[in-house]
Amino acid sequence: MSDNSLRLVWVYPDLLSTYGDQGNALVVERRARQRGLDVHRVDVRSDQPIPTSGDIYLIGGGEDRPQRLAAERLLRDGGLERAVSNGAIVFSVCAGYQILGKAFVNDVGQRQEGLGLLDVETVRGEGDRCVGDVLADIDPRLGLPQLTGFENHQGITHLGPTARPFARTVMGRGNGTGDGTEGAYNDTVFGTYMHGPVMARNPLIADLLLKLALDVNALPPVDDRWYEALRAERIATATQPA
Ligand code: GLN
Repeated sequence: MSDNSLRLVWVYPDLLSTYGDQGNALVVERRARQRGLDVHRVDVRSDQPIPTSGDIYLIGGGEDRPQRLAAERLLRDGGLERAVSNGAIVFSVCAGYQILGKAFVNDVGQRQEGLGLLDVETVRGEGDRCVGDVLADIDPRLGLPQLTGFENHQGITHLGPTARPFARTVMGRGNGTGDGTEGAYNDTVFGTYMHGPVMARNPLIADLLLKLALDVNALPPVDDRWYEALRAERIATATQPA
């Protein structure tokens, strides 16, 4: 972070924004502006280099073929790895999450190398696709209330020893391994299967990223009554008997 300005990078919207994940960029932007930050958002298409001086990077979900192309281009570019070694924060969803891991199985059934920013590896699930509402208790160290989201993925993600589960599912499949974990994170890199888009449903995740970027423990409060009402409605709907 330099002075009062936040550099927000949305990675590859042309390939990885099938599921409304642009909402995450809008929420981070808005919540940063509400705290008086001057936000510079850059949307980086897959034919452009990834800037290495961003503060927060967002990478969304996508279908299998665009996911393969995005992983190839990101690996060739190398900018995201450099940004992380400069201290940047990365938040990724679904296909983006799988790409940040060590490897995933791509649309042509091959094991494809990921960026290795998270100690996870994704295989192709043999069973039904994981689709539906998710309720998950976030890692208590991150200090946020129960999350709500929507998942839609075939991949099953196994966590290695240096990846912490982002959350534990109360409802939904999460990483799909049957151990109740959802997503993964290390110090500054986060991955989740929750769409929604997840920050529109859980804006306190955006605040978590802002606190990390600003290196502060708290942010000035904002009026969250509308979000609280929506959240209560989502939880009530998700837990209603069918
Ligand atoms: N293609 C991946 C899977 O099905 C990711 C899907 C997504 O981003 N929603 O596992």
